[in-house]
Amino acid sequence: MKQTLHYNVDPYDPAGHRLKIQLRMPQPKGKRQVVCLPSWIPGSYLIRDFSRHVETMRAWCGKKSIRPEKLDTSRWALDGCDGPLTIEIIVYAWDFSVREAHFDESHAFFNGTSVFLLPEGMDHLPCTVRIAAPPHRVKWRAYTSMPASKQRIERGALGYFTAPNYDAVIDHPFELGTPQVITFKARGALHEMVFTGAAPGLDLKRIAKDTQRICEAQIDLFEPKTKQAPFLDSANKYVFMTLVTQNGYGGLEHRASTALVASRQDLPVMASETPPDGYRQFLGLVSHEYFHTWHVKRIKPAAFAPYDYLVPQHTRLLWVFEGFTSYYDDLMLLRSGAIDLPGYLSLLAKTITSVHTGSGRQKQSLAESSFDAWTKYYKQNENAPNAIVSYYTKGALVALGLDLTIREASDNQRSLDDVMRALWQGYGRDFFQGKPVGLDENALIDLIEQATGVDVSMQIDRWVDQHEDVPLAQLLAKAGIELTWEATDQRPDLGLTIKPNGPDLVVRQVFANGPAHKAGLSAGDTLVAIDGLRLGNSASALKERLRPYRSGQRVTVHFFRGDSLRSSKVRLAVPNKGVCRLRPSRF
Ligand code: ZN
Repeated sequence: MKQTLHYNVDPYDPAGHRLKIQLRMPQPKGKRQVVCLPSWIPGSYLIRDFSRHVETMRAWCGKKSIRPEKLDTSRWALDGCDGPLTIEIIVYAWDFSVREAHFDESHAFFNGTSVFLLPEGMDHLPCTVRIAAPPHRVKWRAYTSMPASKQRIERGALGYFTAPNYDAVIDHPFELGTPQVITFKARGALHEMVFTGAAPGLDLKRIAKDTQRICEAQIDLFEPKTKQAPFLDSANKYVFMTLVTQNGYGGLEHRASTALVASRQDLPVMASETPPDGYRQFLGLVSHEYFHTWHVKRIKPAAFAPYDYLVPQHTRLLWVFEGFTSYYDDLMLLRSGAIDLPGYLSLLAKTITSVHTGSGRQKQSLAESSFDAWTKYYKQNENAPNAIVSYYTKGALVALGLDLTIREASDNQRSLDDVMRALWQGYGRDFFQGKPVGLDENALIDLIEQATGVDVSMQIDRWVDQHEDVPLAQLLAKAGIELTWEATDQRPDLGLTIKPNGPDLVVRQVFANGPAHKAGLSAGDTLVAIDGLRLGNSASALKERLRPYRSGQRVTVHFFRGDSLRSSKVRLAVPNKGVCRLRPSRF
């Protein structure tokens, strides 16, 4: 008999948010079989220890009950079994992010990393997945990019699916329920969009049309000749799974699908001709995650080939993967016609402004930011703007800087597009055939030179390995775009950000070397009054209090640190940099 891992997922307790997962596996090779649950999910670089949601584990050797022994946070041992082994876990599924699992009487969503145990040494075995129907009388269906098996679906089941190995079985999340669904074809490949959660009057046709154009622009970028979608060797369709919430935003990429969380107010409705402003953000998210199908799911850092699901995997290249993707997500909106040039320039200007807001970019390089993503970018505290740089946003600016450099040096004959195609051909296209090869830490410079004839070693050294800003004003000027900095507000400020907390105004972040820092104010302090006048609990109340003052003047700020009342003299200053503006200078 062919050795296979059989998983059965039973959404048996919607009220308690509990899933029952059984793994039936072949006879263990030795006396001891170790099984584990991943401690992180690819694409989200933080140890999450999914085993913390495992309530109970039971196991049977044949029909005989055996006792699992916990070895450490994520691993269990099963001893002395010389027959087929069955392991059952109860998983508590009540996490409303795209990274774990959630389940109630309205729907279920889960990632394989939260539910599928991996028997050590068996990650190469093919897998089957059976999804059981929930106990309440509802006509749920199962949505996933995992290929369905040919098996006839019996009563009590929602479907049967197959995956060639463990990497694959955990890379196709599932949505179970009665969502709103629309399908379309992009360059001949089937795409399915699944919307879960209350979204009355949703303009599915408009979303599908815009998404289709974005998908086609990306397929054309990577495969200008064959126009072949990237996922067809691991699934027969691509699935966008969106959970619509009151106020959410986020996404996680998979090899033939993505899980998204979107805010209801950002989605277009049939009753209105004009989509909301936030729709551009939603399409940007769609574009970002779809781009990852090539770039990170297939082309990936050598450190991720293969993944080790139990320990952090460090790479200095996340700026290439998340940064380039962040550059192309908006660019693809422009190329697909979803936004126009002024719209694109305003998105780009926003990214430039945000990168230049913090001084952390002068302390941490992009390579360091990538390497320490697990403990810094993913564990940000109030000091983040002073201590770290984002490999997403500054990475996007490096991508733009490299694109402009290559275009200029090659007289517009080559661009970053050629680099993406070279990466795809060298690393991505055949990723699932044979032994996967990842991008080596130092391979990019040579690859760029081969693909474009342009040597960018100096740029990468300065912008990525050191702390230099990308000289975008000069580079953009040559491309006919004028970059200026405008002070949004000439009024002085305190050099901090705030958050309302009930009737109070609490300091969220203090910018290094700004007025608040010099005066000894700290994140967490509750601001009470300025020059004896009480503050309200909003940003506008603070602005109003500062309206009578000029830069250089000193004000007395009263604040609570814990329950101790303090005061400090703050010398007000105008923020050095304001807001970036971009406009075409030649047209
Ligand atoms: Zn991303």
